[in-house]
Amino acid sequence: MARYRGPVCRLCRREGMKLFLKGERCYKPSCPIEKRGTQPPGQHGRNVRRAKLIGYGEQLREKQKVKRIYGLLERQFRLYFERAARMKGVTGENLLSLLERRLDNSVYRLGYATSRAQARQLVRHGHISVNGRKVNIPSFQVKVGDEVAVNEGSRVNIHIQSALQTASGRGRPNWLEIASLDEMKGRVLALPRREDIGQSINEQLIVELYSK
Ligand code: SF4
Repeated sequence: MARYRGPVCRLCRREGMKLFLKGERCYKPSCPIEKRGTQPPGQHGRNVRRAKLIGYGEQLREKQKVKRIYGLLERQFRLYFERAARMKGVTGENLLSLLERRLDNSVYRLGYATSRAQARQLVRHGHISVNGRKVNIPSFQVKVGDEVAVNEGSRVNIHIQSALQTASGRGRPNWLEIASLDEMKGRVLALPRREDIGQSINEQLIVELYSK
């Protein structure tokens, strides 16, 4: 599946907030948002004043932000929305729950990777298993009771070990737990709820955008 391959810090500056796309650097003073603030990207970024967005512009920016947080392109994101709209309950919350339940996001949230992009690569390269079976599909949806683990042969992977060390500072959401740190096994305790999603997102704006 296609994905964005350009400079990611530029995306944070475009959205005017930290999207945590780059791994460890996002938590260091070298993060461009920490150093330069939220000035828009580009040669003339510092001279550009952000206009107050209303209506369509505001809805579009919110959708772009969420797409970028989860590393999705338009078509994939739209499919998630359509699926969320068919589900019972509040469409915006369903959408965020579906995005959170992606395997690459679960791997990131458990702390096996420092970013969702790194988590996607771990999944793609066959380092992750669900309920004892290797799964290499980043969009795989985890469900309650699933065991998400690093495969035995990959436990010595230096990137995973280092990510696990730094993950404790980031914290884990309530819907996931590490069942065994030594065996690098995690478990899905519940479906993610709206309050488990730490980043500032107004999902209602996305619903309004796609409902036009
Ligand atoms: Fe965004 Fe991370 Fe780059 Fe900072 S370091 S601008 S949070 S991707």
